[in-house]
Amino acid sequence: MPELPEVETVRRGLERFVVGRSMREVFVTGTRSVRRQHPDELVAALRGRRLDAARRWGKYLWIALAETGASPGPTAVLVCHLRMSGQLLKVSPPLAPPPPHTHVRFVLDDESELRFVDPRTFGELFVTDELDQAGRPAVLAGLGPDPLLDGVDARRLGELAARRRVSLKALLLDQKVLAGIGNLYADEICFAARLRPGRLVSSLGRAEVARLAAAIGDVLAAAVAARGSTLRDARYVDLLGEAGSYQDHHAVYGRAGEPCPRCDRPILQTRLVGRSAHYCARCQR
Ligand SMILES: [Zn+2]
Repeated sequence: MPELPEVETVRRGLERFVVGRSMREVFVTGTRSVRRQHPDELVAALRGRRLDAARRWGKYLWIALAETGASPGPTAVLVCHLRMSGQLLKVSPPLAPPPPHTHVRFVLDDESELRFVDPRTFGELFVTDELDQAGRPAVLAGLGPDPLLDGVDARRLGELAARRRVSLKALLLDQKVLAGIGNLYADEICFAARLRPGRLVSSLGRAEVARLAAAIGDVLAAAVAARGSTLRDARYVDLLGEAGSYQDHHAVYGRAGEPCPRCDRPILQTRLVGRSAHYCARCQR
């Protein structure tokens, strides 16, 4: 499932290869991918619009839409959440036939296409013109700060931790606390912070919270630099279909039984908040 680093890599691809183009036509063939509004409404809101900027908050992506010609600035945005298996792919002429599970196709003014492909169909696209003062979709107002855009405030994290009787894993997965971290990066962050994912956050000392805050920023920045993690299922690829390389740097995630990169002991796997959790019993306390 794409998390912050993967979504940020897709966003950078959109900024580089799609922003500035206009939408000539939009075809919606998978109505589960457009479920907050009627597909006709989405198509009408997009047709002829210029794609003005690509932005992200947590795991949400959006593209600001401007009128073509004299531009009064973005008045609406196209929001995308990839969820389990969604992919946004940019293809250039000569166009290969759309792969299976292509649910939305955006034909751009240079004859290229942006395609939304999603085998599991949990992902979604919608257009909204309800924006906050910073130009963010109002519907995302419940999300916590984005660790890369807003930074991680160690003091605030400490206050949150002190008040919560939940595991560290549960805290990291809570999108209302921090937006963008999922199962994979939660495990990698815990390893980098030398903290067990099952630790009660209310038991964390000040130095441990400081390590956690630093690990969140460090792990996510390194994963963005490596263009995200592409696992064996290849569910995540970037806008041009290329895999990321951060999977080569995973210390614990998906490595149960393999040696810890720090101490060589086998990595353990357990379950927390209904998800798998991977850790080293010696390096993480
Ligand atoms: Zn270890």
